[in-house]
Amino acid sequence: MSFASLNLISPLLQALSAAGYEEPTPIQARAIPVVLSGRDLMACAQTGTGKTAAFLLPALQRLEERKAAPGRGPRVLILTPTRELATQVKDAAVLYASQLRHIRIGAIVGGVPYPAQQKLLMRPLDVLVATPGRFIDHMERGRIDFARLEIVILDEADRMLDMGFLPDVERIIKAAPATRQTVMFSATFEGSVAGFASRLLTDAERIRIEPTQMQSEQITQHVHYASDTAQKKAMLLALLNEAAMGQAIVFTGTKHGADRLATAIGHSGHAAAALHGDMRQGARNRTLAEFRSGAVRVLVATDVAARGIDVASISHVFNYDLPRSAEDYVHRIGRTGRAGQSGAAVSFALRDERAALKRIERFTGRPILPVPVPGFPLIEVPAEVRGRAAPTHPTKRGAGAGKGPARHRPSGRPGNGPRAGRPGGSRRPEAG
Ligand code: AMP
Repeated sequence: MSFASLNLISPLLQALSAAGYEEPTPIQARAIPVVLSGRDLMACAQTGTGKTAAFLLPALQRLEERKAAPGRGPRVLILTPTRELATQVKDAAVLYASQLRHIRIGAIVGGVPYPAQQKLLMRPLDVLVATPGRFIDHMERGRIDFARLEIVILDEADRMLDMGFLPDVERIIKAAPATRQTVMFSATFEGSVAGFASRLLTDAERIRIEPTQMQSEQITQHVHYASDTAQKKAMLLALLNEAAMGQAIVFTGTKHGADRLATAIGHSGHAAAALHGDMRQGARNRTLAEFRSGAVRVLVATDVAARGIDVASISHVFNYDLPRSAEDYVHRIGRTGRAGQSGAAVSFALRDERAALKRIERFTGRPILPVPVPGFPLIEVPAEVRGRAAPTHPTKRGAGAGKGPARHRPSGRPGNGPRAGRPGGSRRPEAG
């Protein structure tokens, strides 16, 4: 299978070859023909599978093949849950469109001033990548021209729904012309995602890349049981000293926990930084740039802040705190083992978190083997120990490992931009 056999036009093939992509990934092989045909698509695939190119390449090709209507509004709108992901999708679009002429690409995200975005929206645009909150702000001010909109793409739709963006996303899609093509990528078809898709997509083709296919075989997974939090921290610091460690992301359950742990890792002699949603956008961008350049070796992050991070040299993902859902686990470990590299996913768990791990194993279909950390005693975990809060459904959030604040936002929409100053301190979810 080659990109040329998917009938991609030569400027796209040239850009792919310059990017070093030799052949399509499974999701690309299956999604590209569907999107090129103009059909609605519901694709189940997650980060690390090459999903971004799976929707961008055919969308760019459709722009080339069809004549643009007069006007200035975007012809392709891509909605993403977080600012980081929006920026990455935009960068990917710029890369894939590098050999196309006259394709104008922009991004509209929260946390940055409005005037530059207003200017961007006043000029003709072809591809717009946006987070829903800030997009709606502009929409409410009458700054979005929907007349030319041909394709709406929802990236990581499950996460957008999780974060409470559902009403915003639905309003945006309903404002688009009825003739639009709607493409939805999600890590799961379960729960409210399916209902959402059936309301907004028409006669959609469904593609599912099974979890075992989605996870790189290159990622080894294991768990270290610890007697308490202090031991977890000591184990992590010991592992960070190992020679085989390249760059690492350490996931914590809370923003405060991320700050504290980054400080502790820094004190132990590693270049470490925290990344979470309480940081200003400028600081987040700087931290990410330092991580990309290698100046920061260990990034301590919360789930939402780390979405979409694509750094090929990440050798280890540490789940310092277990994720709240099995899907979050898959997203987290997808940060390593990227683009054919090998990687390790290392979880820490207390004895009563065994049930949460079991759920993750059921969800991914792959075992997470307990192994000791050299120099620490092996903690025996009886096979039948049940977690304190062992939900039966892998996607139910907040009921998982029982750590950290609940992620659900009871009402309203996640703050994104100027409305971000809500009460609730660290208990609020992070928005993109
Ligand atoms: P994504 O799942 O879209 O986040 O992509 C994961 C990573 O794979 C990114 O670093 C892409 O640049 C890379 N990638 C996507 N498609 C291909 C391909 N066909 N060949 C090689 N690398 C790819």
